[in-house]
Amino acid sequence: MSSSISQTETISHVVSSLPGTIFTTNPSKTVSPDSFTSYISSSIPNNVKLFKLIESNDPLDLIYDYISSERDESFSLTVTTNSNIVLSSLPVLKKFSNFPIVFHVELIDSNYQVLTSLKDLNNFIILNTLNSIDSHDISIASYAIAKVLNKPVIHFFNPNSDTSSNNKFDLSPKPSVLNITHQIIDSFSSSGKENEQQETSENKDLENPALKKNDSIVIYTAFQILKKKFNRSYSFFESSASINSATTDIFLILGSLYSALSNNFNKLIVPVFIRVYRPWSVDDLKKILSSSFNNSLNLSLITQSQWQAFSNYSPLLLDLFSNIESFNPTDFFKKIVSYNLKSIKNDKNSTNEFVSQVISNNNLPKPVQNLSLGSSSSTASNKNQLSNLAVAEKVTSLENLTYVKLLKQVFSDSLEVINSFNLAEVGSISTPEFGYGKFLRNEENRKVLINLIQSIVHSDSSANNSIKVDFDSSTKQELIQLLTRWLILSITKVRKFDFWSEINDISRKVIALLNKDIFSSTATKILEYKHYFFFNYQWIIGSDLWAYDIGSSGLHNVLKSDKNINLMIIDNTPFSSKKEQVECLTQKKKDIGLYAMNYGGCYVASIAIYASYTQSLESLIEAANFQGPSIVLAYLPFENENVNTLDILKETKRAVDAGYWPLYHFDSSAIDDDQQFQLDSPKIKKDLEDFLDRNNKLTLLAKRNPVFKRSIAQNSLGENVGYALKDSTKNAFGDLLKGLSGPNLTIAFASDGGNAESLARRLNNRATGRNFGSKVISMDEISVDELISYENLILISSTSGQGEFPQNGKAFWDQLKGSSNLDLNGLNFSVFGLGDSEYWPRKEDKKYYNKPAKDMYGKLKLFGANEIAPLGLGDDQDADGYQTGYNLWEPIIWEFFGVTNAGNYQEAAPITNEDMKLASDFLRGTIVEGLNDESTGAISATDQQLTKFHGIYMQDDRDIREQRKAEGLEPAYAFMIRARLPGGTSTPEQWLKIDELSDSRGNGTFKITTRATFQLHGVVKHDLKPAIRGINSTLMDTLGACGDVNRNVMVSALPENQKVHKQIAETGTIISEHLLPQTTAYHEIWLEGADESDKVNKPEVWQNRKDGPKKKKVMVAGNALVDQEPFYGNNSLYLPRKFKVSICVPPYNDVDVYSNDVGLIAIVDSKSNVLGYNVLVGGGMGTTHNNKKTYPRTGSSFGFVDYDDIKVVVEKIMLIQRDFGDRKNRKHARLKYTIDDMGVDVYKSKVEELWGKKFQKEREFKIESNIDHFGWTKDETGLNHYTCFIENGRVEDTVELPQKTGLKKIAKYLLTASSGSFRLTGNQHIIISNILDRDVSRVEKLMKKYKLDNSNFSGLRISSAACVAFPTCGLAMAESERYLPVIITKLEEALEEYGLRHDSIVMRMTGCPNGCSRPWLAEIALVGKAYDTYNLLLGGGYHGQRLNKLYRSNVKEKEILKILKPLFKRWSLERHQGEHFGDFLIRAKVIMPTTEGKYFHDDVPAEP
Ligand code: SF4
Repeated sequence: MSSSISQTETISHVVSSLPGTIFTTNPSKTVSPDSFTSYISSSIPNNVKLFKLIESNDPLDLIYDYISSERDESFSLTVTTNSNIVLSSLPVLKKFSNFPIVFHVELIDSNYQVLTSLKDLNNFIILNTLNSIDSHDISIASYAIAKVLNKPVIHFFNPNSDTSSNNKFDLSPKPSVLNITHQIIDSFSSSGKENEQQETSENKDLENPALKKNDSIVIYTAFQILKKKFNRSYSFFESSASINSATTDIFLILGSLYSALSNNFNKLIVPVFIRVYRPWSVDDLKKILSSSFNNSLNLSLITQSQWQAFSNYSPLLLDLFSNIESFNPTDFFKKIVSYNLKSIKNDKNSTNEFVSQVISNNNLPKPVQNLSLGSSSSTASNKNQLSNLAVAEKVTSLENLTYVKLLKQVFSDSLEVINSFNLAEVGSISTPEFGYGKFLRNEENRKVLINLIQSIVHSDSSANNSIKVDFDSSTKQELIQLLTRWLILSITKVRKFDFWSEINDISRKVIALLNKDIFSSTATKILEYKHYFFFNYQWIIGSDLWAYDIGSSGLHNVLKSDKNINLMIIDNTPFSSKKEQVECLTQKKKDIGLYAMNYGGCYVASIAIYASYTQSLESLIEAANFQGPSIVLAYLPFENENVNTLDILKETKRAVDAGYWPLYHFDSSAIDDDQQFQLDSPKIKKDLEDFLDRNNKLTLLAKRNPVFKRSIAQNSLGENVGYALKDSTKNAFGDLLKGLSGPNLTIAFASDGGNAESLARRLNNRATGRNFGSKVISMDEISVDELISYENLILISSTSGQGEFPQNGKAFWDQLKGSSNLDLNGLNFSVFGLGDSEYWPRKEDKKYYNKPAKDMYGKLKLFGANEIAPLGLGDDQDADGYQTGYNLWEPIIWEFFGVTNAGNYQEAAPITNEDMKLASDFLRGTIVEGLNDESTGAISATDQQLTKFHGIYMQDDRDIREQRKAEGLEPAYAFMIRARLPGGTSTPEQWLKIDELSDSRGNGTFKITTRATFQLHGVVKHDLKPAIRGINSTLMDTLGACGDVNRNVMVSALPENQKVHKQIAETGTIISEHLLPQTTAYHEIWLEGADESDKVNKPEVWQNRKDGPKKKKVMVAGNALVDQEPFYGNNSLYLPRKFKVSICVPPYNDVDVYSNDVGLIAIVDSKSNVLGYNVLVGGGMGTTHNNKKTYPRTGSSFGFVDYDDIKVVVEKIMLIQRDFGDRKNRKHARLKYTIDDMGVDVYKSKVEELWGKKFQKEREFKIESNIDHFGWTKDETGLNHYTCFIENGRVEDTVELPQKTGLKKIAKYLLTASSGSFRLTGNQHIIISNILDRDVSRVEKLMKKYKLDNSNFSGLRISSAACVAFPTCGLAMAESERYLPVIITKLEEALEEYGLRHDSIVMRMTGCPNGCSRPWLAEIALVGKAYDTYNLLLGGGYHGQRLNKLYRSNVKEKEILKILKPLFKRWSLERHQGEHFGDFLIRAKVIMPTTEGKYFHDDVPAEP
């Protein structure tokens, strides 16, 4: 039987059905429990804890303290409170953002603007209910959502919207409330399992990688389950009607009006209720609104609130336009109009009247925005408004008072604006001096009143009366009581939430009693000061005109006073206004925020209501609560009242995003120094320096007016600025302060590779050492318009591609190049360029040498800038590279400034990789802190080096780097993760895990690398830990996959000999485990403890693993637990560079055994026993273009070693490299240089000495190829293996080749069949391995279906390999993986023509000379030099035994084809029987052979 039940009762029922902790807030004055408390208390079970808190005691603060310190792990955490408490606790509320807590918030006075006040609280879910039924259901969902997402949920409900018809329903019994909550939680957490199961049964729908646990999906899932349980539908936006031909208007409603409209349906309008306010689901909104066709309907945004609308643009309007890239509402609607609805009766007449008012306004040519409707008092005047368009203009002209209205919202009756602010009359009564004077007078008079009351109260209670009190006896006692309470309150320093209402309430009562006491002289005396009974939040309000000298003295007095006064400065200057920049320079506008922060002892906030409404409210509340002066800088850009909504929104967004108007708050009273300065605009955290450099008006002023600068320094840089800069925020603040001193030397760099940047930084250190106010920036941070304001500017640029500017200098150059009338007479400058005079060897290309530096120099001279030093040019071809030119140029700079000697200054040595390793505490660094820093997708430069040892490289999407930069965004950082997979074998489980992680954590593809392991790309920082744990959950890891340690040990794939493969794979694994870093940092950072991703990972796998990353430190003397690195040094220095080992089995060299630091050639007897290995030492690939000191090298033979000795021999070879490798110059640190410097024999003898044995004579072997052989093979045990061609190792699905899905299906099949595995080859292909005869046909079917069985490729294509390069590799100079297939297709035409289609030619491509795909051993190699430009090398040995040589540098596709096609033709006509292409080219003298690495640069043919 259904019964009536209130919303409060319903929610209380749900709350007390769940085990957990409940906090209720109760009114302070009565101390009687609110209705929640009564309901809950009456039915509280044992497993529920209840805390009743008094509303005047900052209850949310207390709750936060409790849950953060108690670590309450109850099933549910609940707060029941009301909207007033939520609003007044806004600054505290955001602290809950990482707690799964549910707030049930009663809306007082149907004030839905409280919801919009929380609009920028990221990480909160905000739900909205109207009646008992939806309150019941949504309350249940709230707990499940909070639990699953580990986020706070705020559930707003409005008792005033409850209708009796809605109230009748049956509450779910308590156990079933708990069950449903669990069901939602479990259903979601089990969706992963379900997903796995479904995938096995090949259900397509659930294979969607987008099915992640994001906010919308969790809410949606919860709503689905509610529907199943209760047959009641909920969605993000709800409508009781649909759009039809009669519809003229859509009402998007935040308020209880929705109930009224639904009950009194008017067919002209379609009401839409906002059920889920956060997250704001643009997609769902679009779905419901997009049926508005032909742009013929009006959209009304209705917010129900008792507050006066604070601006033309309601917060709901801001929400509507929040994502205009994907949903531009103006495309769908004729007009979009905001309304504020005060109150409305839930009857047909009132509703219809409201509807008709809205519709008539909408039909006006220019509807009044944010019209307040609904209150009886305003209705008549609203009618007048509607008939008089002039009113619209009036409303708009009041826009200037937006922030005043906001203050009124927050402080209501307690607000006192003490100067008569009006933009039109900036005069005596509007100045801060006036406001401040008035404030002081108020203070003085209040003091008099307090003294008077004190003596009255004292006289009444003391025999020794100092004042005669003649109150009427009938009211005297009450008056004295009230005056005593008033006195206590008035001298209270800490003013709680209800202070203002209580003291003003008392004041009113006192004055009323005094007014009645007409015969009392005491009463008359007190009444002279009656105005000063009232306590208000006192604000002085002014415009940005006060940012000029006009307000500085008043401002200074306010700051100096230490009084509790609040100052708001409204800045209307649009960011895009060029006028502003001129004004900055000429009118000495200064940054009041900086001035105040430097003064200290105050509160400062920078707010922009259209960027963050919540932060604006929060800051106003904090400012008012601060015990001392507060300065709030408020931004509202507009040039005139005709600017439309979108423009203002865009303008604000641009200003905030670009750093022109950063949002921040500064509280000098914060106990923790780190908490004093907080940036609130996340997008500019990293760009704060940018903001300072470009827009710090005070800096500009300081430069123009040194006297003023000194006065600021005296006033501000004293005792209040003792900040220990500990973290990035503090550093940002430091930069902010530094801006005050005014830089007198700016050093700007444009650098792709980092050399120009390091040079700039070094110069800056030297300048700082000479007491320059010097700073370093990238050139793109300079606005050419501001050049006039620089005093001394030094530009340092490297040269990219064909004389192009490096990325971070392009925008600056474009501006400079495009300028025609700059007058830089006041600017001193110099330019230094880094280039390579041989990079473009052809005569006609010489112009590219140092082109950016030359171009800039020419332009600055042209604009009249004065030269500090002549143009400096650094040339890589000089004896010391670019340093040679630099060393001549730099002294001229110091000479110019007369500071040739640096005095006592000691230049700090640059931080090297060796320093980073040494200080890293065995590879820990600050990786954990970096992972936790949510302000950026990047990690620090040092951690970027250290994470390599953990198998992780930071990269960014270079395809969109420029676009993001233009948008003011940081690069799209993501990480590459490389697995350690010794032996290159993968179980089906491991394969499936990598496949799953590539979808859930990566970019949807993965790569088989040239070292036969897996590589994931596009993993964002947040996903790193889950991805690493996922990899480890299948007995793989990533430790040592990159970094200065032994890398993944690669072995021949060898499908036809099971026994031999098993032995070499075992050797590979033994070496890999033996030389694995022993640091526990890997386990500690990535694997220790629990993680949310563990629901899908299996921590027990890595916990129980015997091998792999070490879990426990070693106990040493004194019971200390320490990390120990027996082979890499207990000083944490590891190796000078990477160390690579591979094993091949003749006649196959699919691992390029000659290219490794240690190459092992297995010697096998006739019974397939591996007897031992011929050992090659000193192979290596990486080089630097045009640096002849770098070269590739093939390994030198040391002789033969028995199978059982090989682990120790490899170890000893590595130890010699560890101790003798070059740790000063990383370009010379690989073993290949150590062995050449030392001599092969000496190196070998050192190894023998350590080992205690001698190498045996090298055994005979014959290698025939280094490519893979595709198709089926049967091994000696009868197992089948199929080698699949995966072009360049990229496992992905394309329309033509859905290979990733195919391999996943095969892996799943092998899993169910319990047979088979995968082998990864060093040529980046895959062998589906160890297949039983019975399974062959099934695997074949899958291969056929997913196009994995095609080996009908040209001999050139199947012998080709490319590295990753663009878009992810940060070192790439040209395309590789994406381009090699393209150029091969173009070459295939010629090969076909010459009958060479099936002839194998080893061709490799890389995006840079680091040589990841071992190009130097290919018969044809293309090595990237610049976009679309490559060096072409020819003549490598077909078996990988001989290095190739540079044939032509800097060739583009056309030339490549022009060179290669005739050579193919010659080969087809002139080759000897079985002669490979590389051998032919040498015999034909097209190219000379490279006999040894150190001769790689000799005999290079002259450029034509
Ligand atoms: S060769 Fe160069 S471009 Fe290619 S992946 Fe390696 S470092 Fe990147």
